[in-house]
Amino acid sequence: MTANLLDYDLDGLAQFCERLGEKRFRAVQLFRWIHQKGASRFDDMSDLAKSLREKLKGVAQVQALPVISQHISSDGTIKWLFDVGGGDAVETVFIPEDDRGTLCISSQAGCAMGCRFCSTGHQGFSRNLKTGEMIAQLWFAEHFLREHLQRDERVISNVVMMGMGEPLQNYAEVIPALRVMLDDHAYGLSRRRVTVSTSGIVPKIDLLAEQCPVALAVSLHAPTDALRDDLVPLNKKYPIDMLMDACNRYLAHAPRDFITFEYCMLDGVNDQIEHAQQLVALVRRHASGGVWCKFNLIPFNPFPESGLHCSPPQQVQAFAKVLMDAGIVTTIRKTRGEDIDAACGQLAGEVKDRTRVGERIARQRTWTIKPVSMDKET
Ligand code: SF4
Repeated sequence: MTANLLDYDLDGLAQFCERLGEKRFRAVQLFRWIHQKGASRFDDMSDLAKSLREKLKGVAQVQALPVISQHISSDGTIKWLFDVGGGDAVETVFIPEDDRGTLCISSQAGCAMGCRFCSTGHQGFSRNLKTGEMIAQLWFAEHFLREHLQRDERVISNVVMMGMGEPLQNYAEVIPALRVMLDDHAYGLSRRRVTVSTSGIVPKIDLLAEQCPVALAVSLHAPTDALRDDLVPLNKKYPIDMLMDACNRYLAHAPRDFITFEYCMLDGVNDQIEHAQQLVALVRRHASGGVWCKFNLIPFNPFPESGLHCSPPQQVQAFAKVLMDAGIVTTIRKTRGEDIDAACGQLAGEVKDRTRVGERIARQRTWTIKPVSMDKET
């Protein structure tokens, strides 16, 4: 079987090269060609020995994901729909801002967690993505953007695993993907700029803290177990107090000194002043040595099956004020890419992402986009 080299972190690639009788420094060269230069053809990797290039052609490839569609918003947001086979597609969104470029990637085709406000959850679970399928989203986006912005240096400065799926349910494949993102021979992103977002799988939060601590975002969405049980069914297994304790433990390893709590504002469900006060009490009960979290209040993008509605803006403001008056850093997320259905809750047509990334409308940019053509040949 032909190996997809996007599946490997550097250690994995070194082992692969070792099986071919090649030294680790060859793996480093190969890794850099693939991730830093975006090469997919071995013949283009000019400083690799010709004999190695020939060897690789027989056993390996850099297998990108076919692009089904690409949409560019008037605010500069770009959404790609990738074909992952078997009738499944996943979505990736790039959000340009003044001081950063954020890529939101998917970790699963569908999701099994069944959060009530999430249309991905309503669609059900299809399968976990392989490491290479997650990295292919970053690989494609980074090199596509470099080419079209005519930039030599890195365009994507932040990656958030907040697209389709629960990343920590696909833990074994996510960890090598994170290592590729962080590796200086690949994308060289700092741990602070790579965020894993979870609905709260407590044992995996602890494992992530040990094995690859990156920034952590938790989909909280409710201040009490009674309400969270209804909105995020996983809460029945890992209730709020257990989750908060895991967050506190995570902070001992985290690259940032706070956890981000995502909170989707649902009209009349979890958006009352009383709920905000309960959140303040919750945070104070668990905070050790001061404030250790930030809240992102996320406007809900309604979809018919949910029976839920978006909170009015004045309610969101009043809710935020309670948190901020208590000294908790709180942001209200703005929608990005609404005109291309890339906003939260609109991924993959009717697919819901659980967060909105991006707080400010980016500078208006004119993107000159050539037709996408992905060459899967080596
Ligand atoms: S919010 Fe996240 S964890 Fe919940 S169903 Fe949606 S994708 Fe899955």
